[in-house]
Amino acid sequence: MEHVSERFLRYAKINTTSDESSSTCPSSKVQWDLANLLVKEMLEMGIADARVDENGYVYGSIAANCEGQPVIGLIAHMDTVDAVPGRDFNPQVIDYKGGDICLNAEKGIYIRLADFPEMAEKTGKHLIVTDGTTVLGADDKAGIAEIMALCERLLNDDSIKHGKICIGFTPDEEIGRGADLFNVKDFGADFAYTADGGALHEVEYENFNASSARVIVHGRNIHPGSAKNRMKNAARIAMEFDSMLPEAQRPEHTEGYEGFYHLCGMQGDEENAQMVYILRDHDGDKLEEKKETIRRIESFLNAKYGAGTVEVAIRDSYRNMREVIEQHMYIIDRAEKAMKEIGLTPVRVPVRGGTDGARLSFMGLPCPNLGTGGANYHGIYEHIAIEDMEIAVDMLQKIIEA
Ligand SMILES: [Zn+2]
Repeated sequence: MEHVSERFLRYAKINTTSDESSSTCPSSKVQWDLANLLVKEMLEMGIADARVDENGYVYGSIAANCEGQPVIGLIAHMDTVDAVPGRDFNPQVIDYKGGDICLNAEKGIYIRLADFPEMAEKTGKHLIVTDGTTVLGADDKAGIAEIMALCERLLNDDSIKHGKICIGFTPDEEIGRGADLFNVKDFGADFAYTADGGALHEVEYENFNASSARVIVHGRNIHPGSAKNRMKNAARIAMEFDSMLPEAQRPEHTEGYEGFYHLCGMQGDEENAQMVYILRDHDGDKLEEKKETIRRIESFLNAKYGAGTVEVAIRDSYRNMREVIEQHMYIIDRAEKAMKEIGLTPVRVPVRGGTDGARLSFMGLPCPNLGTGGANYHGIYEHIAIEDMEIAVDMLQKIIEA
């Protein structure tokens, strides 16, 4: 059987960057390269129903070898975050003895222990790192490699007893579309796990409730020389709007279960100004309060500057999967029991973002998230220990085992 890290290295070298500006699915042609390879490898290892659909979603299943078990899905995403297109991915394996890691001698790029003190815990492990010019893509090819390694193991060892296992590899997670065309009905699982997190002992089934607010300010421009008592400066009113939001509730001041208002774009002049906020909170009621605060500021400024000066449009994006998973806590218990069996101490961590699993949960497939062992996602310092990938495969095995 092939080692999980060899699989990972093969997948990591394939560029699968998704493309936000595209309206196709998958958003980038390169994702077909990995999708087609995965189907070929799944067929070769004996997954007879391995297939890729017209949108680039890869599916396949392994039949049960015992009775009375739930049908469990395992899901990972094929795309990686936006990087310079066409760039080569050159993952390297190092025997880590501690200290700084040189990623690229020529360009002088290092993982410094001073910047990443948690690296000390990885001493003595074999780390897969980047060459300092791209992401590694452990997010989420580590998840794919671990699921594939488990499949190969199950198909070669009938002594591991399990129910039916459904496999799904999705495109375009990084641009928020991974769940869009996922065929929950055909997939056929009772519940599933995404393998798309970091630390192995973390199980994630809570994510933000998310909304966005677009604020438009209509001003009245008049030559500044004769503006007294007549000009309404839209840009300044926009700044006033922002100043009325609670300063402590910004991303840079919050963590854990603390929600926020995040100004993620603004433009304006005297005549017109526009701001875009995202609003986030794990607690649905607190998110409603945030929307209410935005509405109150709108009313206040319209009373001050005249009706219609400020216009706010609020849109809901995604919801906290907790409300779904709470009705199926055996899914979490099953994962935590498996973790304990292999010596990990499970921790429940709230995700400060959304996950494809959250959207799948609301589409009828309860789907918490598990760690793959990767770290420092979405940047050149991304890495994963080979030893942790091995543990991840064992963990997935324990989860699906009867
Ligand atoms: Zn991911």
